[in-house]
Amino acid sequence: MIASSPYARFQENLEVTLKRLKASKREQDVLREPQYNHKKEIEITRDDGSKLKLHAFRVQYNNARGPYKGGIRFHPEADENEVKALAALMAIKTAVVDIPFGGSKGGVQVNPKELSKREVEAVSRGYVKAFVDHLGPEIDVPAPDVNTNPDIMAWMRDEFEKITKTFAPAFITGKPLSYGGSEGRDTATARGAFFIIQEMVEREGLDSKELRVVIQGFGNAGSHMAELLHGAGFTIVAVSDSHGGIYVEGGLDPVRIDKYKKQTGSVTGEYCQGSVCDVEKMKLDNVRIVTNGELLELPCDILIPAALDNVITEKNAAKIQTKFIFELANGPTTPEADAILEKKGITVVPDVLLNAGGVTVSFFEWSQGRSGEQWTAEQVDSELRRTMLNAFTAVRREARREKLSYRMAAFSVGVKRILEAMRVRGWS
Ligand code: NAD
Repeated sequence: MIASSPYARFQENLEVTLKRLKASKREQDVLREPQYNHKKEIEITRDDGSKLKLHAFRVQYNNARGPYKGGIRFHPEADENEVKALAALMAIKTAVVDIPFGGSKGGVQVNPKELSKREVEAVSRGYVKAFVDHLGPEIDVPAPDVNTNPDIMAWMRDEFEKITKTFAPAFITGKPLSYGGSEGRDTATARGAFFIIQEMVEREGLDSKELRVVIQGFGNAGSHMAELLHGAGFTIVAVSDSHGGIYVEGGLDPVRIDKYKKQTGSVTGEYCQGSVCDVEKMKLDNVRIVTNGELLELPCDILIPAALDNVITEKNAAKIQTKFIFELANGPTTPEADAILEKKGITVVPDVLLNAGGVTVSFFEWSQGRSGEQWTAEQVDSELRRTMLNAFTAVRREARREKLSYRMAAFSVGVKRILEAMRVRGWS
């Protein structure tokens, strides 16, 4: 049976893995549910003097391998089940890249786009006040996630230091560079994924110059990914954002797309203003405008979802024409789609491995915060490369040895490492 809620989906993969790894009854019980599920209400005063009450969550899934680690999202639809699943996946992710953290996640049910800057600051400080007893550099280390950013991390660090009367740069990661942040954090997710894609191409004996790439999403992760792959000789044939996509059979230049995106707000901005497009210019440049649905079904060698979750489903999986899917977004493929893709022989490199570059550089930031060192961009880059390639090698080896998909192999590597730590601690 295929589960529908995000946490039930996680549990399904977990159960299969625990059974295969012959985990004890007690180990299964520990991993079936998060260790802690904290819920609070945050109250802020709005600019007009009225009060606003918001539901807030901090789920701490497992800390056998080190302090809990996970971002905080501000989203009107952030809910407990989703935050639980994301916390659990963080624990798998930190274990797959073998950094000394557990997994957690936080959320506030709010639309920050409807709030003033002062109100967003009040929500951020309110979150730390609400959960301060459960957070700390050695307890649980937050980070940015959907709709949260370095400024918010700076307010949160400041609030934590005020309440605890400590100097705590390692309390939170994703901070501005001038306030305890790390070099390379903004490009870490794309760079980490890039190292793995390059390695896969090499090990499969392919030539990057002959590989055609489609990328959905042109935000932090997607735009950096496009530029890195283009720079390495891959042909980027299509990219998209929430307004739609652009397809150029002969290949497009992501730097140029980025320039127009910045000017017009859309990757199609050079050719279209809203729904009005310059058809002559499009013909001349061999450009086609595509919907996000069409984009996913374009013929290519590498498809990179880098926007939303649940975009590859049982409805479109059979129509996908690629050799590899590299999951830069979190949860872009449903379990139903996974089964169809596997039958079609499409290799899916999963989110818990591929997009772990962000949390890896968060670990470097935390280490720098604790030691007082400031690493150079070159140091960050070479440690990131080493960490991501070690993780890729471990997952690929597990996939081959146990005849598993990369997703199940990544679960296997991650869960094995969590179980090892639990055994040392006597939790088994
Ligand atoms: P972002 O907000 O910077 O960019 C998101 C992009 O998706 C934008 O280009 C947006 O236009 C596009 N988009 C939104 N709705 C869309 C739709 N309906 N169809 C197509 N495109 C749409 O976000 P990001 O940081 O780049 O994150 C993207 C994904 O990568 C998310 O799943 C996120 O969880 C994951 N991720 C990001 C990081 C990171 O460090 N940035 C780390 C791990 C995972």
